[in-house]
Amino acid sequence: MLANAPPEPLELSPSVQLNLNIRGLGLSATLAINERSAELAKAGRTVRRLGLGQSPFPVPEIMRRALSDNAHQKDYLPVQGLRPLRESICGYLERTQGLNFDPEDILIGPGTKELMFLVQLAYYGDLVIPTPSWVSYAPQAQILGRRIIWLPTEIETGLGVTPRALKAVCQDDPHRPRLLILNSPGNPTGTTYTPDNLDRIAQVARDHRVLLLSDEIYGGVQFDGDHVSAARHYRGGTIISDGLSKWAGAGGWRLGFFAFPKSLSWLKDAMAAAASETYTSVSAPIQHAAIAGFDGGAEMDAYLERSRAVLKALAGFVSDTLTAAGAEVNPIGGGFYAFPNFDPLKDRLAARGIETSQQLCERLLEETGVATLPGSAFGRPPAELSLRLAYVDFEGGAAMDALAAGETLDHGFLKRHAPNVVEGIEAMARWAEGK
Ligand code: PMP
Ligand code: GLU
Repeated sequence: MLANAPPEPLELSPSVQLNLNIRGLGLSATLAINERSAELAKAGRTVRRLGLGQSPFPVPEIMRRALSDNAHQKDYLPVQGLRPLRESICGYLERTQGLNFDPEDILIGPGTKELMFLVQLAYYGDLVIPTPSWVSYAPQAQILGRRIIWLPTEIETGLGVTPRALKAVCQDDPHRPRLLILNSPGNPTGTTYTPDNLDRIAQVARDHRVLLLSDEIYGGVQFDGDHVSAARHYRGGTIISDGLSKWAGAGGWRLGFFAFPKSLSWLKDAMAAAASETYTSVSAPIQHAAIAGFDGGAEMDAYLERSRAVLKALAGFVSDTLTAAGAEVNPIGGGFYAFPNFDPLKDRLAARGIETSQQLCERLLEETGVATLPGSAFGRPPAELSLRLAYVDFEGGAAMDALAAGETLDHGFLKRHAPNVVEGIEAMARWAEGK
């Protein structure tokens, strides 16, 4: 064929040839809102980007230095991950949680998102998650053809997993294999679990042999600096999931890990086998550089303290402003998110033609330029007027420098260093009240 001849189309049909489990799946909501916000901004609109949950802070200097020092690392690394990195992660788990792991118990992955997919691929059980939950757990289960069980939640218990709801699910067919994902601090709610809560959830999980995936990716940005792993309460049945994306500002580095109890080494090995046939291993320079993050030290401690302080102040501002505007907001103990529910303003919003969370977010974006995600993307009923906002549209590095220089962390500080978040939330509040 001539090089410039038009290509012959390949006559395949998505309604026949596309895997049934993927049919109808669009781009993940978090990534889709990010792309849409970027397009609107490019077209000249002022957009407050409270959609994608990405750390506002720069990667710590100590990690960036380690990355440039390791640019020459070119070899494929072991599937399970670079051994010195796994040793460093064991030190991190010992230091932060008092938990003992061996390097053999750690599996490094290209972000925890991929490891979550692999665990659902390898473990044959129902996925049990609270509503609301992070946007990707359920689509991953759908792609793999797993059953999804949504646990009901209440605002009084922070929209998180309750022992009662878990028990109700387990009592129906007690021997069914189940994978529960517990995310603390939580996305989208910012909820944290107290040790007492974790203990009671662990008791139910133990009674029914539920496998627990403890998603601790926001553990380092729990505001009180005292994140408690579920593994401290259910050591034999918990896999810890954590990584650099949220507390080390390095989402785009794509590095996460799972830590397994010895009794689940068969599951880790199965995941490593699947990894070896798919992504091989995580990028070598990134693995070498990640060691500096997990090793910690004074520089990392100062970075974490400043991140937590700024995020806590913003969470307080978001919560107070939206509550004053009439929304319901659960207490936020960590992370970057708030999950306000505007149902108390239902009648007024319905009069403006807003009856679903999808419409709520569409109209909010159209009329104020504030980008958020609808509660329905997190498993809430479509007619509930909830949304998730990520209070991350600011220059975290400048805010940290200002704190280090002794500026007081008051409302003026937030207005100076996080103007898009402050103005975006104020615009949202006024808009919801119809002002
Ligand atoms: N869990 C939660 C709750 C998240 O918000 C995210 C978002 N990135 C992830 C897991 C996945 O993170 P990563 O793949 O970057 O480790
Ligand atoms: N976890 C982030 C969020 O919930 C975004 C990154 C992702 O979804 O992979 O917004």
